[in-house]
Amino acid sequence: MVEQQLRARGIASEAVLAAMARLPREPFVPAELQASAYSDEALPIPAGQSISQPYMVGRMTELLDPRPGKRILEVGTGSGYQAAVLATIGCRVTSIERKTALAEAASVRIAALGLGGLVRIEVGDGSLGRPGEPPFDGIVVTAAAPRVPPALPDQLADGGRLVAPIGRRDHQELILLVRGPQGWARYDCGPCVFVPLVGEGGFREEMPRRWLGRVL
Ligand code: SAH
Repeated sequence: MVEQQLRARGIASEAVLAAMARLPREPFVPAELQASAYSDEALPIPAGQSISQPYMVGRMTELLDPRPGKRILEVGTGSGYQAAVLATIGCRVTSIERKTALAEAASVRIAALGLGGLVRIEVGDGSLGRPGEPPFDGIVVTAAAPRVPPALPDQLADGGRLVAPIGRRDHQELILLVRGPQGWARYDCGPCVFVPLVGEGGFREEMPRRWLGRVL
């Protein structure tokens, strides 16, 4: 996986390659798909969600410029694999998931891998980020949004990096925002396809009625 899918396609960060070589994917993939744990595709996980293609995880992780001790916010825990990759590099991760069952399962997996001390998983609407925390060195959104969720850029520290798939429901562009002294620089990093970010800063029309009632 690392040589053929990641390095051969241009993932150059040795920290990312080493972490993805070391961290097993089997715990994050459903029992009936174990044979595909390292295959070159996104795979379904419970609740109609997916674990991203290994290449996409490598690319997003590399764009964050992860280093040991950096504070990273992940929006969309899913299986927990992306959070575990970041923790294997030594980042301190807060990951927010809207589906309780996924958050709980991810938290158990991450603890079993001995990474629980570096990863905090919370249930909630991550499209609002994590207001009230000190700013993050990196934010990775692993679900598709129609625009950069407006609350997120302000939650980046100086020099902080935000990576997110932005665009239509069926097709997005991977965006990198870098916070500098004069504002944010935005880079387009290639096409991608993610499940939708559902929440106030995402695709709002998929929100349950009671949430809509609160914001209208
Ligand atoms: N990073 C994951 C893949 C995530 S799939 C992995 O490594 O496996 C996208 C996830 O985002 C889904 O689990 C979905 O439930 C979650 N999600 C969608 N909208 C969200 C929101 N507003 N807040 C938090 N999580 C959200």
